[in-house]
Amino acid sequence: MPLSIFVDALSYTYLREQYKTLAPDADLAPLRPNIGYSSVLHCQLYCNRYPDARGTFVDWTKKPEPNRSVRVLSRLLQPLDHIAPLGWLSRKALDRIFFRSNTFANIPYRFRPLFSNCGKYLFFDRKNLENEEIFAGYCVVLQDEGRRSLADCMDEFLNLIQHDTKNIFLSFGFADQIGHTCQRGAQYNARLQESVRMLFDGIAQYHERFAQEEILLVSDHGMSTVQQSVRIDLQRHFGKESPKTYFCYRDTAVMCVFATQNALKETIAAYLQSLPYGHLLTESQRQYYGVTDRDFGDLIFVLHEGFVFEDNWFGKAARRSLHCGSSHGFWHGEGICDQTASVLLISQKRALQPFYEYPQAYELIRSVMQG
Ligand SMILES: [Zn+2]
Repeated sequence: MPLSIFVDALSYTYLREQYKTLAPDADLAPLRPNIGYSSVLHCQLYCNRYPDARGTFVDWTKKPEPNRSVRVLSRLLQPLDHIAPLGWLSRKALDRIFFRSNTFANIPYRFRPLFSNCGKYLFFDRKNLENEEIFAGYCVVLQDEGRRSLADCMDEFLNLIQHDTKNIFLSFGFADQIGHTCQRGAQYNARLQESVRMLFDGIAQYHERFAQEEILLVSDHGMSTVQQSVRIDLQRHFGKESPKTYFCYRDTAVMCVFATQNALKETIAAYLQSLPYGHLLTESQRQYYGVTDRDFGDLIFVLHEGFVFEDNWFGKAARRSLHCGSSHGFWHGEGICDQTASVLLISQKRALQPFYEYPQAYELIRSVMQG
């Protein structure tokens, strides 16, 4: 059994400059990321399960909030939606002090009862892997489980090698954390270098000890510099957002529009198609990405690389101040860009294709891991 490694957000355009020095025996290929974020991408790559089958696309799904106190508080605090800083501050205070979780995020109170947080991260807890056949028989080390340091995870990995354990699955979050704090370029490269070297030193030790075993490293997406934040003001064109007419969810780069009437939906679709910032998914693309469920939006609009929504509901940053260095979740299109993910393989049995889409990457992962 091989060594299988997942590194969240390890960009192909970064790795292609480094990998020949880090692992001279390795093959590297680009992987085009699917739409969405880690909470849905990991499951697609490793379990071949897509949003339609899981009932979740972006973390917040249009599904009535089950917690009564959240629904009541949302109703009471609705007036704060019209006082922007107070709305944001009150949601932060509720989340930090009372709920101690991302309960309200940055969702306007009047829409909050309509949504539930359904995001589930595969690699945040080893229990999630117990029922997934692909991980059966693997020793698992997850950096995001309990927010462990890279050094701590590498110690555990090296210890496994010393105890002659070959079947290892490692998952790392360091590249995603670094990417969200700085723009692509010298600083990003310098910050990533130390961690990537540490990982590849471990890979070299495994390779030396178990020369016959395959080593596969995959990332879910890359990292692209955030260039511009945009506000798509549908209210100016289509009137006030309301559950009775239309409303839209937006996070970093994805907007999901819910419209009750077909005619209005068509007009909003035509408007979104005319914008230069992003791409409106066609029905066949929704099928390809497994997001046909209307609870994911009657319309799904994904921003092009480098654009982020100014009025982001996700709630980590204050309204109008989302300048986080780099990010992902953008519309990818064809070809290679900083958001392109990586597939790296050390194997005497097989070679990589020149370019991967998610379904082929899943087949490769399955075939290597279940060897
Ligand atoms: Zn990320």
